[in-house]
Amino acid sequence: MITRKNTKEVRIGNRVIGNHHPILIQSMTNTKTEDVAATVAQIHKLTEAGCDIIRCAVPTMEAAEAFRAIKKQIDIPLVADIHFDYRLAIAAMENGADKIRINPGNIGSIDRIKAVVDCAKERQIPIRVGVNSGSLEKELVAKYQGVTAEGIVESALDKVHIIEDLGYDNLVISIKSSDVMMCVKAHELICQKTDHPLHVGITESGTLRRGNIKSSVGLGLILSQGIGDTIRVSLTGDPLEEIYTAKEILRTLGIRKGGIEVVSCPTCGRTQIDLISLANQVEEIVSEFDLDIKVAVMGCVVNGPGEAKEADIGIAGGIGEGLLIKHGEVVKKLPEDQLLPALRQELLQWNT
Ligand code: SF4
Repeated sequence: MITRKNTKEVRIGNRVIGNHHPILIQSMTNTKTEDVAATVAQIHKLTEAGCDIIRCAVPTMEAAEAFRAIKKQIDIPLVADIHFDYRLAIAAMENGADKIRINPGNIGSIDRIKAVVDCAKERQIPIRVGVNSGSLEKELVAKYQGVTAEGIVESALDKVHIIEDLGYDNLVISIKSSDVMMCVKAHELICQKTDHPLHVGITESGTLRRGNIKSSVGLGLILSQGIGDTIRVSLTGDPLEEIYTAKEILRTLGIRKGGIEVVSCPTCGRTQIDLISLANQVEEIVSEFDLDIKVAVMGCVVNGPGEAKEADIGIAGGIGEGLLIKHGEVVKKLPEDQLLPALRQELLQWNT
């Protein structure tokens, strides 16, 4: 059982993070934000997959203005990702952004930061203060003799203090590093020094395979210590994959319930069927159901039932025939082509 660190409550549009609210999953669109139709279509797909909060890049004034139309067509909070130009932050808020993500370090003079903060304060829009190990200030690199967790934390807190000194504390903090263990250490340090909610993620984690592993290890270590209020898995790939991975990380840690967990055997010399294809088809089938159960897919009829004991339902494939299993007990012997329809039928009955 994970005991979560307590943090301040922050409202982002129609969702709330911090103060023991559920950890929300975020992703970022990779369409041109200016292309409203494409961006809205992608947000709808991500929402359906389980995305709780969406962020869009705002590189131009046209993108900031597109926020107004995008916002009207989606149901989840919309976050503006701003780099360098404070006017884009203000325009995004004026056009309906529910949160903005800035690094005050690249926004410029204090007057510009103040203009952004004043606009956020007036509308009670939270600001995510994001720092990244890649852009750590030279002074901090020198002070800590390199890019270190301590340096990233100091950099983030400096930025937070700038905004707090301007009289605003509706903040979320993110500290990111592509070095997983540095990122873990930075989170361990920062949660002792602030009670602002934390947006957790491993940045530039890479393509699907590598990125999933790095994110799972990093987020797993951080979340298992009760740290983190919202997460984003960053992958070089379809943002939908980020949502699938984030949900699986939360489920694996027991933080989020719901959705069928498919377990399948690793296959061995006794495997009698094309288990990889069968497991993938089962994944497809279960995605239609919102049940909090475990389904096993086993590769042989001899050991399969015993090895599937912990699953609520299972199937085990043999040559030309297979078994339907419940809690390790064989309940039906079926021709191979009947296995998947029988499983689906069981799930439908479970649903009612
Ligand atoms: S269930 Fe059967 S096929 Fe799968 S790993 Fe166990 S013994 Fe091998």
